Amino acid sequence: MIELLPFLKSLLSVSGLSGFEGPVAKLIEEKWRPLTDEIHISRVGSLHGLKRGSGKEPRPALMIATHMDAIGLQVSRINHGFLHITNSGGIDVRVLPGLEVIVHASGSGEELPAVIAMPSARQLPKDESGKAVAMKYLLVDTGLTPPEVEKKVRVGDLVSFANDPIELSGDVISGHTLDNRASVAALTVCLEELQNKSHVWDVWAVATTQEETGYLGAYSSAFQLRPQLAIAVDATHAKGPNSNEWQTFPLGQGVGLCIGPNMHPFLHAKLKEVAERTEIPWFLDVTPRDSGTDAYAMQVIADGIPTALVEFPMRYMHMPVEAVSLKDIQRAGRLLAEFIASLEEKFVETIVWD
Ligand SMILES: [Zn+2]
Repeated sequence: MIELLPFLKSLLSVSGLSGFEGPVAKLIEEKWRPLTDEIHISRVGSLHGLKRGSGKEPRPALMIATHMDAIGLQVSRINHGFLHITNSGGIDVRVLPGLEVIVHASGSGEELPAVIAMPSARQLPKDESGKAVAMKYLLVDTGLTPPEVEKKVRVGDLVSFANDPIELSGDVISGHTLDNRASVAALTVCLEELQNKSHVWDVWAVATTQEETGYLGAYSSAFQLRPQLAIAVDATHAKGPNSNEWQTFPLGQGVGLCIGPNMHPFLHAKLKEVAERTEIPWFLDVTPRDSGTDAYAMQVIADGIPTALVEFPMRYMHMPVEAVSLKDIQRAGRLLAEFIASLEEKFVETIVWD
């Protein structure tokens, strides 16, 4: 069995901004290769791992999507040796000043350590002081001289978060990119559990690309693989300071099962039944619209795929200090494995809209 914490930390240590997932895909591929029967990369960079079922061919298949891309920054302009940046994916500019980052310098192929600096209040225009500093005033400092920067760094180069994850008390890990590498870890737990479980269905474990910028990987992989069912795994907002009472969930107390138009009601019911039978704590997440995850892309592709969304609570989503409970990640992985083992060959035929 994998040790979840070191594996998760290794997943957080490699970059993979949306559209540039190569480094993290390689790491996941190494881990999944012995756990799957076949593995390949899609034309747009998603990782497809097939774990064959024991049913007779043609076997039905379930696709599980965990996006592996990360939010981050890109160099938009170089100014006297300092770098101006823009965001790739949803980032609140208020968290950026003071952050440690890595500049992926394409001119030299180096990973340059750097920090994000902001001008002092008196250097800013009058109407900008006293407010969150706008992205256009932030500068990335690599410590290099202007000619060195010109030589090594190009406009368009990636800038990723570099703060190390930190283990908080009570089984909580905090760091950047836990959305959604924690789900990749959960899917890996699932693949490991399946090594000792018999299952009739084929399982496509998929690490998707570009979820944060428009679900490219989920759309294209679901279209290519045409699974009979699909499940996405992603983070949901956990209870935290000032969080909304009914839309947030406690950390460390279970996995979320979404209910709403983006989920097939029959699949939702089946996941609930499996969670209860196997005593995996769960909570209901009312999602009255597109879930804003890979579940949406998979549901609406081709002639429509019955889809569900399994979630785990996360505090401070899209901040460099995202926080999740390891227990919840483990539970999500176990729930997926139990669900897969419970699928009968004719399950799809029993699915109805009523
Ligand atoms: Zn996500």
